[in-house]
Amino acid sequence: MELAYIGLGSNLGEPEAQLRAALDALGALPASQLVQTSSLYSSAPLGPADQPRYVNAVAALRTDLSPLALLDALQHIEQTQGRVRKAERWGPRTLDLDILLFGQQRLDLPRLQVPHYHMHLRAFVLYPLAEIVGEQFLLPDGQRLSALLRACPAGDLQRLPAAGEAR
Ligand code: ATP
Ligand code: MG
Ligand code: MG
Repeated sequence: MELAYIGLGSNLGEPEAQLRAALDALGALPASQLVQTSSLYSSAPLGPADQPRYVNAVAALRTDLSPLALLDALQHIEQTQGRVRKAERWGPRTLDLDILLFGQQRLDLPRLQVPHYHMHLRAFVLYPLAEIVGEQFLLPDGQRLSALLRACPAGDLQRLPAAGEAR
């Protein structure tokens, strides 16, 4: 069993509903258990600016799947939710599911680099992750999450109120 952290993002086709559906799908994966979910956050798009804002979240999944089996499963969920892969990098999409961390493992495979190569630069990853693991969390390279947060301003990242929470 490993504890994997998954980054979720969407900016097409009712992003909040996409993320909720994706969380349900993560919870239904074989040999896996969804153990924690951050709030949803709104963030400015990375790359091309002429696209809608993103909704992001981070989830913790306890799993017996191998890292590559988990990647296959995540890509299957992306496809089920209508992701179309385009030539343009970082273009708009209904759903992006990235493996941020897989326990304390470090992997550099052609299809999978873990920890995710840009997670330390992305407020929409670090702040939701901190919400569920706390700032004292240690990354596989020995860095503390608090240090990454200090180096990565939240910018215009906004936590979205949960259903029923006052706006
Ligand atoms: P970014 O990786 O910068 O967030 P992206 O998520 O938009 O960009 P995708 O088009 O979703 O990129 O994925 C491109 C490829 O990245 C995938 O086919 C996958 O094999 C590879 N990849 C490498 N490491 C990871 C990871 N940790 N999680 C998910 N995909 C990964
Ligand atoms: Mg991504
Ligand atoms: Mg991706």
